[in-house]
Amino acid sequence: MSSPSFVRSALFLKRKGYAFLKDLTEEQILAVEKKYSTLLSPYYLSLININDPHDPIAKMALPSVDELNQEGLRDPIGDLINSPVKSLTHRYKDRVLIHLTNKCPMYCRFCFRKNLMNENEANLYDKELVESFAYIKKHKEVEEVILTGGDPFLVSENKLFEVVERINTFSHVQRLRIHSRVPVTFPDRITKKFVNKIQGSFRGQVILVTHFNHPNEITEKTKEISKIVREQGILFLNQSVLLKGVNDSVETLRDLFLKLGNLGILPYYLHHCDLVQGAKHFRTTIKAGRSIWQKLRGTLPGYLLPEYILDVPNGLGKIPLGESPLKEVSADLYQGISLAKEFSYDELGD
Ligand code: SF4
Repeated sequence: MSSPSFVRSALFLKRKGYAFLKDLTEEQILAVEKKYSTLLSPYYLSLININDPHDPIAKMALPSVDELNQEGLRDPIGDLINSPVKSLTHRYKDRVLIHLTNKCPMYCRFCFRKNLMNENEANLYDKELVESFAYIKKHKEVEEVILTGGDPFLVSENKLFEVVERINTFSHVQRLRIHSRVPVTFPDRITKKFVNKIQGSFRGQVILVTHFNHPNEITEKTKEISKIVREQGILFLNQSVLLKGVNDSVETLRDLFLKLGNLGILPYYLHHCDLVQGAKHFRTTIKAGRSIWQKLRGTLPGYLLPEYILDVPNGLGKIPLGESPLKEVSADLYQGISLAKEFSYDELGD
């Protein structure tokens, strides 16, 4: 990750003439980057069309003054509320998340953890891992451990394998899930040897959940790594976020889900964009999202239609939006029940 070829500021791209940045001054870029870092791999940079001011890949990777709008929540899905020990989230009875690192090979501008990650760029320390393992050992109801971050594929190989081997010692843990956008943003990290070692270090089912949002992110490299992952018997799934100006159309999402399906990567969630501070410009309304999802329904085989979901703020978990218990009570206001608790959801519209 210390490679100089990773882009660490959009100033360099502005000077090279990237059309997406043409309306931003250098001062504005610096002001946004003071709050939210820029980082992208040479591979992800190569997916951007330098001449397109509306390039969807650029929108996901490069700064925008809209990020300075701080309306929203710092921790929109309540990771911190549900953390019994630091860096472990226990929201659902049978599953826990371990946040292995706050680093990613690219900082996505829409990320729901963008505030927490930018406040503390660090790997998980050994002391915190010890506490996480002690918690899992004690909680026999935990059947699945999810490694997340940041991006868990960014920690050193030795540390990652050590973590997987330790999880493997808990006989009540049946499944290991890894949430990583590395297959999309830094696919060179996915080698046969690497994947083989992960699968070989855990006795149960390994599930890799990645995060493609746009068909332009799918390349020959995606085909290569999809084969590597599936040949090891790993279940390969995708979750996308519905992003205004990036993928909020039936045509774009249909193309994305079909391309993923053709490579054996199953789309399982389409997230409504969270109420995170600094990403309001990416949020569609629920009404628009539902309309897209309902139109997609008749155009895709059922196994390629992901569930459209909302992560209810304050750690109340996920609810389906396609056909939802969430009732519209006024223009921006919805009411519903999640985990047996009533809640109101204000879209913070204009
Ligand atoms: S890779 Fe995932 S965790 Fe990292 S910045 Fe992007 S969305 Fe956030």
